[in-house]
Amino acid sequence: MSESGDYVGRFAPSPTGPLHFGSLLAAVASYLEARHRNGRWLVRIEDMDPPREQPGADRLIVNALEHYGFEWDDDISYQGASADAHREALDRLAESGLSYHCNCSRKDLADAPRGPLGIIYPGTCRAGCDADEYAVRVRTTDEPIGFEDRLQGRQEQRLETESGDFVVLRRDGLVAYHLAVVVDDHLQGITDIVRGIDLMDSTPRQIWLQRCLGLHTPTYAHIPVAVHADGSKLSKLTGAPAIPLDRAVPVLVAALAALGQSPPDGLDTGSLDEVWKWAIEHWQLGVLRGKTSVETVARTHHFSSP
Ligand code: GLU
Repeated sequence: MSESGDYVGRFAPSPTGPLHFGSLLAAVASYLEARHRNGRWLVRIEDMDPPREQPGADRLIVNALEHYGFEWDDDISYQGASADAHREALDRLAESGLSYHCNCSRKDLADAPRGPLGIIYPGTCRAGCDADEYAVRVRTTDEPIGFEDRLQGRQEQRLETESGDFVVLRRDGLVAYHLAVVVDDHLQGITDIVRGIDLMDSTPRQIWLQRCLGLHTPTYAHIPVAVHADGSKLSKLTGAPAIPLDRAVPVLVAALAALGQSPPDGLDTGSLDEVWKWAIEHWQLGVLRGKTSVETVARTHHFSSP
């Protein structure tokens, strides 16, 4: 058990579809790390990207969390509710000269260099642009932005070279994920982030925004992503099924095993309370150190009806 009672963790799903085994792993790991350390655990629905969302997915996610026996602190929050704080953050960046308008279209950027993070913005509009429709970008520099990931070790990016100035307000008027997540984690007092490794390369951009806005940087632990037997990530796009609501115990035990824990024989025939009690007591995040993916093929038999 931890020394710290000040831990605040969170699970922040986007309502793009129901919970699948991959997103369950992020929920379980963030929950157990918080509870094992006597901390608080919040659920925030990241409903900031309506074009990608599925109507009703938020209810499906919350319903699944309930069936699986998660107990969150505070009411579930919706990212849309902090729109004013997002606007204030955008205003602060603009007032400090840290952001600028950009009207480059996709076509304008067709020849821009690309790297692992996507287009590397060449800075075309850095001196400003005159247009009614524009995105807002935050200025970056080439100083290395690094952090010590609790599982994956030292990570570092030079943003100006690797992503270029990046978008904080989209041309369609939607606040970009990096800005929203940083502001919301701050508003909710999040101290420790446990999430999927697919988000790890976003972290330096989020730390950069924290610095630009004068916000505290939480600790980060990026857990392995669940993959199919062929190595592709489990996601809605690769046809990952929703976790079944009527087999919470065996699926939860399978999630614990996928997360490198060693559930004892018979735990999967016990009650949900017994599973959580065992898991909170025995949770060891550290066994995932250095792991970037966990294969789930052997565990999917729980998903088909008996
Ligand atoms: N909403 C993001 C997702 O569902 C997660 C954001 C985060 O954990 O920082 O992929």
